[in-house]
Amino acid sequence: MSSNSAPSRRAFLARSAAVAAVPAAAALAGGALAGPASAGTLPGYAPVPPSALGPAVNAQGYFAGRVEKNLYWVTDGTYQAAFLTTRDGVVLFDAPPSIGHNLQRAIDEVASANGVPGTVTHLVYSHHHADHLGASSLFGRDVTRVGHAQTKVLLARDNDPARPVPDVTFQTRRTLHVGGERIDLAWHGTNHTPDNIYIHFPDHGTLMLVDVILPGWVPYDSFNLNEDVPGSIAAPATALAYPWKHFIGGHMGRPGTRADLALYQQYVADLIDNINKALVTVDPTPFFTRYGNNSWAAVKTYQAAQVAYATAPVIKKYTGVLAAADVYTDSTAFHILESIRLDLGTGSQIHP
Ligand SMILES: [Zn+2]
Repeated sequence: MSSNSAPSRRAFLARSAAVAAVPAAAALAGGALAGPASAGTLPGYAPVPPSALGPAVNAQGYFAGRVEKNLYWVTDGTYQAAFLTTRDGVVLFDAPPSIGHNLQRAIDEVASANGVPGTVTHLVYSHHHADHLGASSLFGRDVTRVGHAQTKVLLARDNDPARPVPDVTFQTRRTLHVGGERIDLAWHGTNHTPDNIYIHFPDHGTLMLVDVILPGWVPYDSFNLNEDVPGSIAAPATALAYPWKHFIGGHMGRPGTRADLALYQQYVADLIDNINKALVTVDPTPFFTRYGNNSWAAVKTYQAAQVAYATAPVIKKYTGVLAAADVYTDSTAFHILESIRLDLGTGSQIHP
């Protein structure tokens, strides 16, 4: 696919979508951002490798492309959804609010070009998060929403009118048959969230698993905010056990390949190796000597030193390979370090 047309416009739109996606984070940082930002004083980062970027978005701010046969993906450069056209209507997979009304525009573009109905009849939820489902209500009440049983529980809790609860739920597996097409849904345990599912298109050589592997990019802040770190580390192997060629990760500007999952696994394995080294190598003494009875100051600076020790070789290795390795590797390493400490018990010592 072309990755060279209108790069500055694409970058601007991707950035706009990314910013639109995290208004809460910006609001939380309001103190720091309240003054006029000066681009010249903001930190510099390594360039994004061309391999991380996808096709340019159009004037409306989206790109819709064929994955295989009648399966399509749509992106705004930061978020992704997918849709399957059938003789009886369209099955949509996720409805990110940042793509919003462009979802139906993308569907109409494809459906009219292929002479198939463009009405969305089914909407499959990958997981309950608002940044992937917040445009669900645009599709009205007549759409059959499908999701994991826990997605229904969590959406009922969140009570967000933009994300109606699913009408059809399942616990472990469910096969959907719509207009002669087959979609296999499965839950293989918690990972990013307790309800995140694997969406397999056996006749389209495609797997969709959202918010775990972001092809071309390191994970978002704090290891994608994954609720279950061991479950998220294990998820790519579960994904690779399926037969597929194309991967929809829910984020950034392009679909993925099996090589993208292997690269992600290596990045995480390298982080774990270096975190384990940091846990036994960085000497805590100076931090506790310096901060005395302020235990949190000592712990914070000690752990920051462990993270810096662990990430330096990883950032060096992956800069130019995975986009934003120098942006988010530290926060992801901290999240994994805490899981190694708290889930695995590494470094725990019983007082003699
Ligand atoms: Zn999520």
